[in-house]
Order: sequence, then C-alpha cells, then structure tokens
Amino acid sequence: MEKLTNFINGKFVSPRSNQYLDVYEPATGQVYAQLADSNSDDINNAVESAQNAFENWSGLSVKERAVYLNKISDGLKARLDEFSEFESRDTGKPISLAKSVDIPRAISNFQFFADYGSSFQFESNLNNETAQNKIIRSPLGVVGCISPWNLPLYLFTWKIAPALIAGNTVVAKPSEITPLTACRLGEICQNVGLPNGVLNIVHGQGNISGDALVSHEKIKAISFTGGTTTGKVIAEKTASSFKKLSLEMGGKNPAIIFADCDYKKMLNTLVRSSFSNQGQICLCSSRILVEKSIYDKFKRDFVQRVSELKVGDPLNEGTQFGALTSQGHFDKVLDFIEIAKQEGGNVLTGGNSKKNNGRCETGWFVEPTIIEGLKNSCRTNQEEIFGPVVTLQYFESEKKAIQLANETEYGLSATIWTENKEKATRVSSQVDVGVIWVNCWLVRDLRTPFGGMKQSGLGREGGEDALRFFTEPKNICTIR
Ligand code: NDP
Repeated sequence: MEKLTNFINGKFVSPRSNQYLDVYEPATGQVYAQLADSNSDDINNAVESAQNAFENWSGLSVKERAVYLNKISDGLKARLDEFSEFESRDTGKPISLAKSVDIPRAISNFQFFADYGSSFQFESNLNNETAQNKIIRSPLGVVGCISPWNLPLYLFTWKIAPALIAGNTVVAKPSEITPLTACRLGEICQNVGLPNGVLNIVHGQGNISGDALVSHEKIKAISFTGGTTTGKVIAEKTASSFKKLSLEMGGKNPAIIFADCDYKKMLNTLVRSSFSNQGQICLCSSRILVEKSIYDKFKRDFVQRVSELKVGDPLNEGTQFGALTSQGHFDKVLDFIEIAKQEGGNVLTGGNSKKNNGRCETGWFVEPTIIEGLKNSCRTNQEEIFGPVVTLQYFESEKKAIQLANETEYGLSATIWTENKEKATRVSSQVDVGVIWVNCWLVRDLRTPFGGMKQSGLGREGGEDALRFFTEPKNICTIR
C-alpha cells in the first residue's frame, strides 16, 4: 500500500517515529493508503528547513517568486485530470466537481497571487512638509498553514500562494483525512525546482503535528481554516506569543428567498448552494428562509429537484452527489438527522444513509435531506452540521427574515434572492456575515475580502487582505 510521506527541504521523507495512519476512500469505506503520522520532531525539522530557505527566498524579487508560482500552477494544470481523480477518491466528492471547481481553483490560486503580487504595494510613501514616511511591508519569516478536508487542495493553496508570493517560507499541514493532493503538490514543487525548504508539507493528526506547528516558537503566523472549536484552541495556544492569526471557521448560512425573486434561477442555484460537495462547503446554505406567499410552491419544487440528484460513485462522470468524507462525519450527520426528528422536524426528503451496489456498497453515503417544522433556536438550526441537511422556515416580513438570518452565533455568508435592488441592499446591510451573494452563489473575485464575522472568523483572506496578513509593515520616517 502506498505510503504518503512528508515533504521537507525538497525531499519526501518518512516521519521520524515511522508511524503511519490509515487513509480511507469514502466511497468504499476502505483503506487505500498510509499517511505519515508526524510529531513535533518532524515539525521541528520542517521549520528548520523553512528557516534556512527564508533568506534566499525573501531576497528574490516578487517577479522572481511569481515565476515559481506560475510554474506550480502550470504543473497542476498539466495534471488536472489526475489531480481531479485523486481529490475525488480522497474526499468522496463527484469527479466532475473536482475537475470543474477544486483543481481549477488551486491552479488559479497560484496564478492569481503570482499576478497580484506585482500590483500589491510592498512599499509606499506618505510625505508631508516636514517628513517623508516610507512604509515597507516585509515577509514575516516562517509561517504555518493549516487546512481542512472539504476542499483540500483548493484551501491548502489559497493559503500557501499568498504566503509564498509575499516572501515567507511555509510549513503546511493538510487534514489527515484528505492528504493525497497536498502530498502530490510536493512532487510538482520538486519538478519545477522550487528551492528546497520554501514549502514544507507535514502530515499527521491535528492535535499532534498541528499542535506542534501552532506552538512552535519560530512560526510567526498561522493561517487556519477549519472548525470553530479548533480555531478557539489555536487562538488560546497562540495568545501569549502574539502570533499573527487568520481564522476561517464554521458557518450556518441563511438563504433568504423573497417572493419577487427570479424563481427559476433561484431554484437552480439553491440546489447547488445547499448540496454541492454533499453540503460540505463552509459556504453552503443550510437554513433556507422563504417568504410565506411562495413557501408551499417552493417546498414542492425544491423537494422534487433535490430528490432527483444523482447519488453514487464519485468517480462516475454523471454523479452529482457523492459520499461523506469520513466515517466520523457520516455518523455525525446521521445523528443530527435523529436530533432534528426529536426536535419535531418533519423530513421532507432523504433522512437516511444511502445504500449503493457494487464498488460503493460499504461507502459513507447520506441522502440529501430537507427538513421543515423546526424553530430557529433548536440545535438543528443553530449547530453546524456541515453535511447534506438543510431546513426550511418561512417569514412574512423583511424584518423577520433579517432576524432569523442573524439569530445564530455564526456569521460567514448569506444568499439573498430578490429582483428588488433596494431591498437587496437594505437586507445585505443588516445581515451580519462576511460574504453576501445576491441572486447568485460562490461567485468569487479573488481580490475581494473573504471571511466571517462572529464565531465564523477572525481576519480576512483574499487579495490585499491576504498579503497584508502575510507581511509586517514598517514605517521609516525621515525629516526633510
Ligand atoms: P478541523 O477544525 O477539525 O480541522 C481543520 C484542520 O486543523 C485540520 O488540518 C486538522 O487536522 C487541524 N487541527 C485539528 N486540531 C488541531 C489543533 N489542536 N491544532 C492545530 N491544528 C489542528 O476542521 P475540519 O477539517 O473538520 O473541517 C471542517 C470545518 O472547517 C467546518 O467547521 C467548516 O465550516 C470549516 N471550514 C471553514 C471554511 C471557511 O472558509 N470559513 C472553509 C472550509 C471549511 P486533522 O484533520 O488531522 O485533525
């Protein structure tokens, strides 16, 4: 069975302990690889190699660093099909999704930051009659990037690319659940000749290798995407050392549907925004709030469309809905459906694990599930399920819609459906989330700030925000 090892100082190396973890294929529930179970020795090794690489890497011009990022992007592009298959096998997501979203986005993360780096002001001047102020933004040094399992390469590279273009060297830890594409990224770095130690990829368990990375005194910043509980642990761990922190965490995103929306467009998009990647996207709509006058029609149509989704082997091109990414998550989602029933929820479609024949007989599939009849305050509507479970509620006034949308500790994203532009602006300004999509979903311009409010996040990623995070400003004031 293949052993997925760490990528440190430009080489693939076994973990110091020589211990390995099982890696599962969600569609079959079977082990298909072994993963380095790294500990603080491996992290120390990786940090040392990143430190050694820092002087030369940060001494290159942005343009010179961009050449490497573009080469990595091209290397990924050349292996799009292969990487899409890796991502689908490792996560359980439909291969069509990996091919159209995950891997293309990883390609564009490198490309985007390679370009954006040259437009970012690493140096600026603010002069007045008495003095000249020169503001220099320098890389931080060695930084840590920690990413989750739902969009593995997409989110991994979303952190690594800005960190590198800004001149930092990186120690990155992907999720132990979905390590395959991160591991293969190391091969691409080797092939394009990225200088040794600039990017180090260390695998293993969050509370061991992740913790060692977060706690390492030489790590200047942590960029983390994952659950709010883990984010809190990381914030506590780093508080006394004043490490820079960027936290992208959970969500409980409302979709607010007004009767005056473009109904067809809304319905098509809502099926995607609720169930893409089996609902395992932090930006998925999970609480669907519908104006009462169209509630019954919407319910009928939405249930019909969702029950038609093609659930099955993620490696089949025609599959629209695959497996949940781990056994633990599969159990958690099924538990939540039981909780919803106990809370008085009425399951309109789905509600069970999905049985398949053949190769996927023992995989972790849950039917796309729609539930109604629950109060907004119940656990189902307040806790992040992060799976293929959405709830329906209705509202009779704009004020009530906003109240329901905001009645959660999360504040990541929302979608608003209305053809009335003033209403869209009014509601957008009152919903407390970091990202709002009006009449669309997941439309991204990588220059825009991305992140959440309340328990969903601290700081923003994307364009200028990411480069500001990965640099430290210094003001040099010279008297005239
Ligand atoms: P986790 O918080 O469990 O894990 C995220 C990453 O942190 C993994 O690499 C994990 O490693 C690592 N980790 C776990 N414990 C520690 C620790 N003590 N110290 C350092 N690192 C640690 O999240 P999931 O992987 O389960 O991802 C799902 C969550 O991510 C959801 O809540 C989702 O909303 C959120 N998310 C947020 C996004 C956003 O942009 N706001 C985007 C995508 C997801 P390991 O896997 O080995 O445990």
